[in-house]
Amino acid sequence: MASYLAKAGLSVAVFESAVFPREHVGESLVPATTPVLLEIDAMSKVEEAGFPKKYGAAWTSAEDRDIDHMGFRGLTHDFRGAGVMFNERSQEGVERDHTYHVDRGKFDQILLKHAEELGAKVFQGVRAGKVDFDSEIPQIEAKVGGRSVNIPVRMVVDASGRRTHLGTQQKFKVADQVFNQYAVHSWFKGIDRQALTADKEQADYIFVHFLPVSDTWVWQIPITETITSVGVVSQKRRFQETGGDREKFFWDTVGSRPALLNVLKNAEQTRPFKTEGDYSYGMTQIAGDNFLLVGDAARFVDPIFSSGVSVALNSARIASQDIIAAAEAGDFSKARFATYEAKLRRGVRNWYEFISIYYRLNILFTAFVQDPRYRLDVLKLLQGDVYDDEEPKALAAMREVVETVENDPNHLWHPYLGDLKAPATAPAF
Ligand SMILES: Cc1cc2nc3c(=O)[nH]c(=O)nc-3n(C[C@H](O)[C@H](O)[C@H](O)COP(=O)(O)OP(=O)(O)OC[C@H]3O[C@@H](n4cnc5c(N)ncnc54)[C@H](O)[C@@H]3O)c2cc1C
Repeated sequence: MASYLAKAGLSVAVFESAVFPREHVGESLVPATTPVLLEIDAMSKVEEAGFPKKYGAAWTSAEDRDIDHMGFRGLTHDFRGAGVMFNERSQEGVERDHTYHVDRGKFDQILLKHAEELGAKVFQGVRAGKVDFDSEIPQIEAKVGGRSVNIPVRMVVDASGRRTHLGTQQKFKVADQVFNQYAVHSWFKGIDRQALTADKEQADYIFVHFLPVSDTWVWQIPITETITSVGVVSQKRRFQETGGDREKFFWDTVGSRPALLNVLKNAEQTRPFKTEGDYSYGMTQIAGDNFLLVGDAARFVDPIFSSGVSVALNSARIASQDIIAAAEAGDFSKARFATYEAKLRRGVRNWYEFISIYYRLNILFTAFVQDPRYRLDVLKLLQGDVYDDEEPKALAAMREVVETVENDPNHLWHPYLGDLKAPATAPAF
């Protein structure tokens, strides 16, 4: 956001409470990040950093059966897993066959420095406090050099991530009614990334390993040639059942899939376990007079399809257009941000629905990925290409199949239904 606005010649200040580089979860990008990095002229710096290239995504199954020939409507499910390559579908503004997996400490620092080089004033180690909207123009409270100051601004952009600074202050935040997932993750050295894949070409893809525990999966993300990020995602109540012991939760959960446990036991853990919880929420409002919310500050559901950074970057892309037009008109009232609000809500609604269907019946997701009738449509979602269209046709078809399976207790896929059942419409959206 700061890069877009500074490039347009606006006066921009960034208040960042941390001092970069700082660790952060969310390491695997999707191709929808590419147009943003190109537009703000940061792509060459990202390329120079030498992050591992990500050509696709793969899913492995906990079942040791082969193909489910019991599918219906022509859908079959291959229990050996599935994979996609991004170059199977061309995507506007992405003339390349890869995106990146990134060490967020380095990646975020590149973007922050880049904004500074474009003219934004960056204040690191400065936490933004209360924003006062009652004065003529908003005032942001902050402590600079040990002194409390009120900074008057024409426009406030909340990009505070899951701290949801304005959403909390203004009471816009609504916890998701369905998703309450929890993650425990770390970095490992020397993981054999090929161990669970039949296709050795996929070794540097992101892997999502399904576990034989409902609503539970593991990510495998290459960070460098030797370091791999691994995280377990499951329902929060399962974590609580271990008495909040992150080590035990991680190893017990991974242990439900012995082949995966074996891979990890042969590697060396290089960072302490970190946890991420309470991360699924929406906002009743994402824009108003003199403010808007972007990225996780606006909305976060679940990391299953690595959508977070792309939503953050694209929300900044779309919102910056409205802010630049508002600055030209000298009017920062809510109506000026209507395009942003509509586009973001549409994109995120597609993600929400896709994620809901995935958790409800994940074998359906792999069946659709493998089906030539739907593969490219699913890939479009996996590329993060979700802002300009109404609902992709694969989503409607998936929803229909889920309903059929839910309504028929004798259906062959009925036993595979997950516990998380999302309502037809996403909360607060
Ligand atoms: C378990 C898990 C796994 C994930 N995996 C992926 C993945 O593989 N790929 C992916 O794309 N996404 C993933 N995500 C999502 C991703 O982490 C986020 O969507 C992304 O980081 C959002 O970026 P952001 O800029 O909105 O917020 P952030 O990256 O969180 O940045 C917010 C910044 O605001 C600062 N800040 C907060 N409060 C204040 C304040 N009051 N004043 C000043 N500064 C403040 C923070 O220090 C921080 O630097 C995952 C998320 C989770 C929970």
